[in-house]
Amino acid sequence: MDKFNKISTTLIHGGIDGDERTGAVNVPIYQTSTYKQEGLGKHKGYEYSRTGNPTREALEKLIADLEEGLYGLAFASGMAATTAVLTLFETGDKILISKNVYGGTFRVLDKIFSQFGIHYEIVDTNDLELLENSLSEEVKAVFIESPANPLMTVTDIKAVSEVTKKQGKLLIVDNTFMTPYLQRPLTLGADIVVHSATKYLGGHSDLIAGLAVVNDDALAKKLYFIQNATGGILQPFDAFLLIRGMKTLGVRLDRHQENAKAVAEWLLDQDAVKNVYYPGLTTFEGYEIQRKQADGPGAMISFELNEGYHIEKFFGELKLITLAESLGGVESLVCHPASMTHASIPEEIRKQVGISNQLIRLSVGIENKEDIIADLKNAILLAK
Ligand SMILES: *Cc1c(COP(=O)(O)O)cnc(C)c1O
Repeated sequence: MDKFNKISTTLIHGGIDGDERTGAVNVPIYQTSTYKQEGLGKHKGYEYSRTGNPTREALEKLIADLEEGLYGLAFASGMAATTAVLTLFETGDKILISKNVYGGTFRVLDKIFSQFGIHYEIVDTNDLELLENSLSEEVKAVFIESPANPLMTVTDIKAVSEVTKKQGKLLIVDNTFMTPYLQRPLTLGADIVVHSATKYLGGHSDLIAGLAVVNDDALAKKLYFIQNATGGILQPFDAFLLIRGMKTLGVRLDRHQENAKAVAEWLLDQDAVKNVYYPGLTTFEGYEIQRKQADGPGAMISFELNEGYHIEKFFGELKLITLAESLGGVESLVCHPASMTHASIPEEIRKQVGISNQLIRLSVGIENKEDIIADLKNAILLAK
């Protein structure tokens, strides 16, 4: 498929554009488990839908185009994608993870992969010297998110990739918060990109999906093998829904960001608010790096209410913004990282990485921004 220069166009025409046979502008949902074979070993490239399905393939080509990678893979969830990627490693290997990775990524390493002798270590990936010194023999990969969940910690992906490349380690980037519309880690030197497509890529809070993208032939071959062997694939209907959602990613994110900027600036002005974590604020620590490596700050904001404001009351008084896990949908969602998304991280580690009990994470939706701000204003007022 041709590559388009402008990602807004690739979102709509990338991957497999429509259906050649009928002219349908959308890729059909190939709701089939198997395919008729003309004779022994003679088929049209598809044998069984765990191994290959045309609807899934259209999505896999689309995400590869968008991330400027060569190979895409679609999984049943973001965690299935991450798990498949971590299955590349062997007993005795170690993965370095940045301080604020997604709770589920931490959990799968801490509780599942550790059982097979694949270990992890948490490092501050912004300290390049520390990172370089941590890359011992058994370390095989560095796993980062930027901006990272939930404090929006920005990591210089290019700088980290220079360190990992020099030492022959893989760099894995979870690009869920940015999506390829805003940031393309492979072009910054990453080896593997993973996504929870459940979030912005899907965009409508109506499906669970995961994606992975690579550039390297050998790595792709291993990942396709793992995908087929372990079977955590995305179903055709969900692949269709995801392609459909991704077509509007550009317009959605433009609006998400416009709203997030207004909300972050408003929060910054409130006496009730202690800290605002948003990479779009010039005062934010990672602002310059974010500007350099991404085409926008995204629409995820975290903030802390001062002591004396009751977190339960705040959540209880919200009328428009929904208290829920997840993010990246058209509707504004709010969550309490300490007891929700990051509850699987032990309290002492949570404290170490700065996830306090007063911390609130907001996924700014595409509703009217004045309505979002009014809802926050009211809930903060009544939380005292
Ligand atoms: C949600 C999320 C995941 C996990 O994805 P699922 O689709 O829920 O399995 C991974 N990384 C990040 C950053 C996420 O927000």
